[in-house]
Amino acid sequence: MSLIPKSHPRAKSLLIREKLVNGFDKGLVAKEGLLAQGRGEAFDYLLGEKTGKAAKHAIKVAAAQLLLADMPIISVNGNIAALCPKQIIRLSKQIKAKLEVNLFYTNEKRKKAIIKTLKNNGAREILGTNPASSVKLPGIDSARRIVDKNGIFSADVVVVPLEDGDRTMALRKAGKIVITFDLNPLSRTSQTANITIVDNVTRAIDLLINESKKLSKKNQKSLQKIVTGFDNKKNLRENIIQIKNNLTRRAGIA
Ligand code: ATP
Ligand code: MG
Repeated sequence: MSLIPKSHPRAKSLLIREKLVNGFDKGLVAKEGLLAQGRGEAFDYLLGEKTGKAAKHAIKVAAAQLLLADMPIISVNGNIAALCPKQIIRLSKQIKAKLEVNLFYTNEKRKKAIIKTLKNNGAREILGTNPASSVKLPGIDSARRIVDKNGIFSADVVVVPLEDGDRTMALRKAGKIVITFDLNPLSRTSQTANITIVDNVTRAIDLLINESKKLSKKNQKSLQKIVTGFDNKKNLRENIIQIKNNLTRRAGIA
């Protein structure tokens, strides 16, 4: 049971933190994952802890791109399994994407805990578990580059929430279309991905599910139009302007 009072002005953000700490206690989240959460929280604070206009636009484009994909896949790490396991599975069913457990800090025990959580939340097939189908992405070192031959390696569109910059760059080099959720518009992942949703994944994922449902009625041509008109760098700049405007308003400078 949560110890955070509902009346707390930042209750939602504290609940997200609590989910991650619980995930750490259950062996899902790495210590480094807690630090990544802290970095995310700082940016969320600067964004006003709400989904902005630029993020909503990126969500719509991501939904269109996922519906156009031949083989979409969602990469799951410990933070995602702790923060939004139900939604990630709902999204995978909505856009007919596979799920692959892919850890930046490889650890078999943690991987098992993540798989168990996903299964308990309704996941059927989970890739990234069979060493016989592991292959290496070129361009990055050691364990970070291992992916599933039948999953990320063969996919055309990859959703990598809260991903490290090196891996995102390797995925791009391997010709993948990369969609990410990242609160830091300046991170290497944000700057390298094709579509960056600058928002807390716990807020944005429900919006992405709804948008995918809505756009599933559109034909390929209209979906393609949504994707082609999108400029990720421009969208990132809009997010940075949102941060700047928030700061100047709150500091009473403007
Ligand atoms: P990069 O490697 O891309 O330059 P980094 O090294 O600063 O980034 P990583 O730990 O590699 O950070 O990646 C985690 C990213 O996830 C960070 O940019 C962090 O801001 C972001 N993040 C953390 N929690 C959330 C969350 N709940 N929703 C969205 N993004 C988050
Ligand atoms: Mg990193």
